[in-house]
Amino acid sequence: MKQKSDVVIVGGGVNGCSLAYNLAKHDIDVIVVEKKYLSSGATGTCGAGIRQQWSTMENAQLAFKSVKIFEKLSKELGEDIEFRQGGYLIVVHDKKDMKQAEKNLEMQRSLGIKVDILNSKQINDVVSILDVKGMNAIGATFCPTDGHANPFKTTFAYANAARRYGAEIYTHTTVLDIKLNKNKIIDVKTDKGIIKTNTVVNAAGVWSKEVSSMVGIKLPNKPFRKEIMVTERMKPSFEAMVISFKDGIYFSQQQEGQIVGGIPIPEEKGGFKTLPTFSFIQHMSRTLTRYAPVLKHVNMLRHWTGFYDVTPDSRPILGESTKINGFIECNGFSGHGFMLSPMVSKILCDYIAEGKISEILQDLSLERFKDKKIEHEMNVVG
Ligand SMILES: Cc1cc2nc3c(=O)[nH]c(=O)nc-3n(C[C@H](O)[C@H](O)[C@H](O)COP(=O)(O)OP(=O)(O)OC[C@H]3O[C@@H](n4cnc5c(N)ncnc54)[C@H](O)[C@@H]3O)c2cc1C
Repeated sequence: MKQKSDVVIVGGGVNGCSLAYNLAKHDIDVIVVEKKYLSSGATGTCGAGIRQQWSTMENAQLAFKSVKIFEKLSKELGEDIEFRQGGYLIVVHDKKDMKQAEKNLEMQRSLGIKVDILNSKQINDVVSILDVKGMNAIGATFCPTDGHANPFKTTFAYANAARRYGAEIYTHTTVLDIKLNKNKIIDVKTDKGIIKTNTVVNAAGVWSKEVSSMVGIKLPNKPFRKEIMVTERMKPSFEAMVISFKDGIYFSQQQEGQIVGGIPIPEEKGGFKTLPTFSFIQHMSRTLTRYAPVLKHVNMLRHWTGFYDVTPDSRPILGESTKINGFIECNGFSGHGFMLSPMVSKILCDYIAEGKISEILQDLSLERFKDKKIEHEMNVVG
């Protein structure tokens, strides 16, 4: 193990690996420390959907710019990350939601995002298997450049490219402590040795709270347990991700034909329990077949749990601490950290490499929670 580095990143998920790639490409000496294997956290359990249809400007901007990067990422990294743009169809159930959707659409379009409102009759033009009456839809919004990618392949492609530029990645290595001298970082203690550094990035996902507490910083993040399933393969029937914020359901068909999707479990929200529940199977299959009755002929093969790292306003926490020099947060993604990772890592790299503070970094800093008027992201599945 190297004993010194300019930057140490805690966490080998998609965010840690993409940041390592960007930093190493800028000739910055960087080490990633991952306690298990790459993508073993939320990244390896996620739906890997990529959408630009957000209610807050920062999320929409990050997602829009990330899509531009995703479009060329396989070529840039030299590996196929299976990025596909089948669009996201967001179901609208009532007039109040439609008003909010129209407001969001105006903001999204002002950024250059191509998004449309569909009436109830146009929904089946995009996803023919949906039962518009069964899902109580009055319409939908649709963005054809939304899509998804393979979360494992994306993380490994970033990690492999980072290594080619000189980054070191230590898996099965746990960060135990971070030593300070007053408000300056001195070193990072792992179970395999000590690394001297003045800059640490906390990309530890749902464990970020623990890592921040090593330097005396209290994060407001909470773990939210989620379940997600995959069905057997069926013939290709639709390309879009279907999502409803009211029912909490999301599902899409993979290239090989399986349906992947999830829904919140009605009776459970917080905590670190990993055991999947029968309640999820019931709730998911009832809602899914209400949305697309033809799917009652398809078997669910497997389901698993994962954790959202949720902040009070459902937006990420990014940037350097005002208390500890060189301690940088990259967490709190609240269920949408895969899709934002290409741009988040670019912004953080620009900050670490060149001291560039973008408006997004300021808006998404931990300091925002001191202000009582924080803006909540509305477009989340609960
Ligand atoms: C069911 C589900 C569905 C989702 N669907 C989507 C989706 O469709 N689209 C989307 O954009 N996002 C989705 N997400 C959210 C997304 O998965 C996360 O926001 C994203 O993967 C976070 O990546 P990360 O690299 O920040 O964190 P993680 O992938 O969680 O990585 C953090 C890593 O830090 C490591 N670590 C923690 N503590 C230490 C330590 N002390 N020492 C060393 N290593 C440590 C962990 O082992 C872990 O590998 C979903 C999440 C879930 C659970």
